[in-house]
Amino acid sequence: MLIFEKSRKGRGCDVLPECDVKTVLPSDANMRKEELHLPEVSEPEISRHYSELARKSHGVNDGFYPLGSCTMKYNPRVNEEAASLCGFTDIHPLQPEETVQGCMEVLKTAEAYLCEITGMDNMTFQPAAGAHGEFTGLLLMKAYHESRNDGGRRKIIVPDSAHGTNPASAAMAEYSVVTVPSGEDGCVDIEKLKEAAGDDVAGIMLTNPNTLGLFDRNILEITEIIHGCGGLCYYDGANLNAVMGITRPGDMGFDIVHLNLHKTFSTPHGGGGPGSGPVGCKKFLSEFLPSFLVKGEDKLTFEKPSRSIGEVKSFYGNFTVVVKALTYILTLGREGIKDAAENAVLNANYMMAKLKDIYPMACRGFCMHEFVMSLSQLKKETGMTAMDIAKGLLDHGIHPPTMYFPLIVDEALMAEPTETESKETIDEAAAVFRELFETARTSPELLHQAPVKTLVTRLDEVKAARHPVLRYR
Ligand SMILES: *Cc1c(COP(=O)(O)O)cnc(C)c1O
Repeated sequence: MLIFEKSRKGRGCDVLPECDVKTVLPSDANMRKEELHLPEVSEPEISRHYSELARKSHGVNDGFYPLGSCTMKYNPRVNEEAASLCGFTDIHPLQPEETVQGCMEVLKTAEAYLCEITGMDNMTFQPAAGAHGEFTGLLLMKAYHESRNDGGRRKIIVPDSAHGTNPASAAMAEYSVVTVPSGEDGCVDIEKLKEAAGDDVAGIMLTNPNTLGLFDRNILEITEIIHGCGGLCYYDGANLNAVMGITRPGDMGFDIVHLNLHKTFSTPHGGGGPGSGPVGCKKFLSEFLPSFLVKGEDKLTFEKPSRSIGEVKSFYGNFTVVVKALTYILTLGREGIKDAAENAVLNANYMMAKLKDIYPMACRGFCMHEFVMSLSQLKKETGMTAMDIAKGLLDHGIHPPTMYFPLIVDEALMAEPTETESKETIDEAAAVFRELFETARTSPELLHQAPVKTLVTRLDEVKAARHPVLRYR
């Protein structure tokens, strides 16, 4: 039931005292002509309403959530406590800088740590999400080439295993996308890359480990090829979980990187709160950033560099998200960050090892923080698909892995258990995965109906796509 249906005229829950200052109304032209259509419900009803919504959804606090590429790790409570301190929340973005020095110190400190982790020199916190960071990074790239009267470079190279946002961001920045295929081993095909490289290439966008969960061993050669043709190297650092504290994009030869604080750095996402996709760059690109923080005589101040690409979001970005990420970094410390990465890789390999005798893996050997299964054989033999397995997981209180991605793997299921899951949870989940595979083979009709225990059972996906009902009447 929608909250609007629970609404009763005149029922409310405001506890505000009578206003004791003069009421100032806006001019007639600015006054709304009709009543504001808001639900009127009592406080207990609101409370129940939100609890009910929470019950209907699955979050990382409800159960295992191995959504590959999305890093659904646990979001520590202490992050929330730090971010709700009144010094961080009761401020206004237009306040004079000298009155918010503490908050600016947070940004400066977070910048220093994240630059250390990525091997970059400066960072902007304006971008609100990963894709927004990619777009910002590409604008830096463009500004750089234009500043050298080399603005004719129109192409961005993207491997075929890339996250979908990479080519989309390149297109938004008005570049054309050149796809380079992956080789047999799942890594960038070096010969094909050499063919694509040229003086019309602005740069490459790459994530390493890639979306197959593999670390590209040729990474130094890749960045060298791109630099060799005058291009720049962009690192999609949405998931830094496998490498943080161990190796750095800056040392792999990358010039620009974005991070998803809402993945690697444990801030909530997927309906849990706003994101943050800070962009870091090497010194020679800092003059193009939207703004950066400098330490003056006695205070921190924001400076807009002369060749800035301009603002990509208002003010400081999603500031409290940065507070949470910094809290996380300080909680873990240098060793803890490395441990988190190692355990993320260990957990993924452990889970893969528990499944690989029945679930065919897209690649051989060890994986990094995630691994990809392919159910194409199962589909051929039984007609059951990755989708059926995913739906079956829902009946066991497990969120499905990422489905049908990366695009280069047929019937893909991509799992990322993350370092915050216990051995027991992974054992239980692996047992469920195994059971479902068995069911798919022996009684496909059962699995085909799943989920049956959830509030909403199997949806007609084709109808939902062709005739979506997007509006409530
Ligand atoms: C999640 C993700 C992105 C996009 O991040 P958003 O915050 O969803 O915009 C980009 N690249 C990779 C590899 C990702 O996993």
